[in-house]
Amino acid sequence: KPRLFSGMQPSADSLQIGNYIGALKQWRDMQDDYDAFFTVVDLHAITVQQDPQELRQKTRRTAAQYIAAGIDSTKSTLYVQSQVPAHAELAWVLSTITGFGEAGRMTQFKDKSQRYGTDKTSVGLFTYPVLMAADILLFQAEAVPVGDDQKQHVELTRDLAERFNSRFGETFTIPTATIPGETARIYDLQNPSSKMSKSAESQAGVLYLLDDINVTAKKIMRAMTDSEGVVRYDRENKPGVSNLLSIQSALTGQTITQLEEEYAGKQYGHLKQGVRDAVVAEFEPVRARALELLEDPAELDRVLADNADRAAEVAEETLKKVYDRVGLLRRG
Ligand code: ATP
Ligand code: MG
Repeated sequence: KPRLFSGMQPSADSLQIGNYIGALKQWRDMQDDYDAFFTVVDLHAITVQQDPQELRQKTRRTAAQYIAAGIDSTKSTLYVQSQVPAHAELAWVLSTITGFGEAGRMTQFKDKSQRYGTDKTSVGLFTYPVLMAADILLFQAEAVPVGDDQKQHVELTRDLAERFNSRFGETFTIPTATIPGETARIYDLQNPSSKMSKSAESQAGVLYLLDDINVTAKKIMRAMTDSEGVVRYDRENKPGVSNLLSIQSALTGQTITQLEEEYAGKQYGHLKQGVRDAVVAEFEPVRARALELLEDPAELDRVLADNADRAAEVAEETLKKVYDRVGLLRRG
């Protein structure tokens, strides 16, 4: 089976609906056809300040949500990034073939460094995409199912893989980002011009998988719309309404056009109720299962450790090849 790699940062107690639509849902659908590696990328999370105690909790909670959403740790490899040292080791090597200007063009870095200010922006945040390239290339992954916001990072990964291969000889498989449909980028409900993020400053416009169902319903009913009063998709002029249509379409499988017809002549309240029902139906069982799994953290840790062993075996093989190719003297 072809290899697949993807991951999420344990940067919050709960994942948000963009993570679910952009990534997790795809993962679940693809895991039967791929030799898949799903990682909780804690080394990425520490590129912005994290409380140590909370980070451990968030890491477990993220893993529990993967499983609750249908990732099967006997079919796929589900582990914590820092438990496989090869990630950091390969990232160093790749950083030596990455251009400073090339890294500087990454829009996620520009967005996040703007949010945190130059003093709080770490060098690690700058080299984040290089670590992500290492994650993917370690597993010789062909498929990288991510949300639209990660497309640029996967492009960089491809460039680095090609550069390494041409400089040192065929070593890495060139990966491809698999991104679900055009409407797969989900925006903040209160600020529909910026993408929804689990680590957003305000939680008012973020739909968290583990939120109480009533909280989720309220956030949807209070979502920002516009004054036109017509339910139609127009990303430019009606970002709030368009975002709600995207969410319902992604969850129910109905096309945007079908939804526009369904809501013709109806008010925004109807649209919000429709979205609320779809989100609640999808979230409720996942939330219940995740909370159940979190009641036994020792068992969860054991599953993660077993899976890390499996991941390390594959990763070590690639790393060894890379060190050889680069000319690092290996001990006998
Ligand atoms: P953070 O705020 O810490 O960056 P995040 O919500 O952006 O958190 P990540 O861990 O960076 O989440 O990304 C996990 C996955 O979710 C990636 O595949 C990413 O592309 C996807 N994703 C994140 N936000 C969205 C979104 N708003 N719409 C669609 N996909 C998204
Ligand atoms: Mg992100």
